[in-house]
Amino acid sequence: MKRLIYILSITCIACLDVSASPLFSPDERNKPGDDKKKQAKREDTTTIVVNNPDCIEETEEIPDTTLILFPSHDLYASWDTNAAHPYKFNEIFKEDSVTIELTKEGDNCFVMPYKGRLTSLFGWRKYRPHYGTDIDLETGDTIVAAFDGMVRIARYYHGYGNCVIIRHNNGLETVYAHMSKILAESGQKVSAGTVLGLGGNTGHSYGSHLHFEIRYLGQALDTQDFIDYEKGDLKCNTFVLRKTDVENKYDLRALHARHKSDLMARKYGKNRPVKGGVYRVRKGDTLGVIARRSGTSVKSLCKKNGLKPTSTLRIGQKLKI
Ligand SMILES: [Zn+2]
Repeated sequence: MKRLIYILSITCIACLDVSASPLFSPDERNKPGDDKKKQAKREDTTTIVVNNPDCIEETEEIPDTTLILFPSHDLYASWDTNAAHPYKFNEIFKEDSVTIELTKEGDNCFVMPYKGRLTSLFGWRKYRPHYGTDIDLETGDTIVAAFDGMVRIARYYHGYGNCVIIRHNNGLETVYAHMSKILAESGQKVSAGTVLGLGGNTGHSYGSHLHFEIRYLGQALDTQDFIDYEKGDLKCNTFVLRKTDVENKYDLRALHARHKSDLMARKYGKNRPVKGGVYRVRKGDTLGVIARRSGTSVKSLCKKNGLKPTSTLRIGQKLKI
């Protein structure tokens, strides 16, 4: 039996309401290539299928070429203009290592985003990780793109302040934060050396500087492993990222947790408070101290041991952690 399929697309009034969201500028609304889910939501296109029994049913798959427009689409399979780092590196990165060719034939050479004195390096700060390298500058100094690519995010973004994030042809993403002014826009194709904005002191920043990050699938890497800041050039044109390097150098939160755990093991030996274990109370212990050392809460300790926050502990008393 022949059937005819008429497909009508109706754009709902709801999509006109997108401008109400503070996350989108009017220009961003119509840009192609947000990840598919977001795009579908934004366009909010309703499909109506009308069956006509006199026509033959036809189904034709139209390949989705939207993401091919964007750099490294085969690696990321998404183009998110909202979230800075929406990727789950540990779930995506299955290989033992990957070789990244930083500039391929036909690409422009690497350009230093800004040449200046380094004021803070990649690593653990007192209470939190620092995923970038800070370069001293004066407000108003010009910041440029490091490699060829396309701007994914260009807006004020939490602690980053005025920030530009670029997806590069080589698979890396770079972050340029704390700028006083953004001079690039999401979806803009850039070459190494293209002006992105002016240096500043916006967001979580004390004093004018550029916070510069290099990431691969969301995992922050130490920019000093790529760049010789003295020479203002790449150390090498290929970079090998090993899973073991991520575990031992780059995954700052996991490293910090392991470091804390090792300290506890050295301090308490077998009597170390471990979640799910039993702790024997020592001289000077309080519920607060034990909770802090064992990564739990006083409330949880009280509940597990039938205690009150004001209960007196006895030396040698066993507590479930
Ligand atoms: Zn920084």
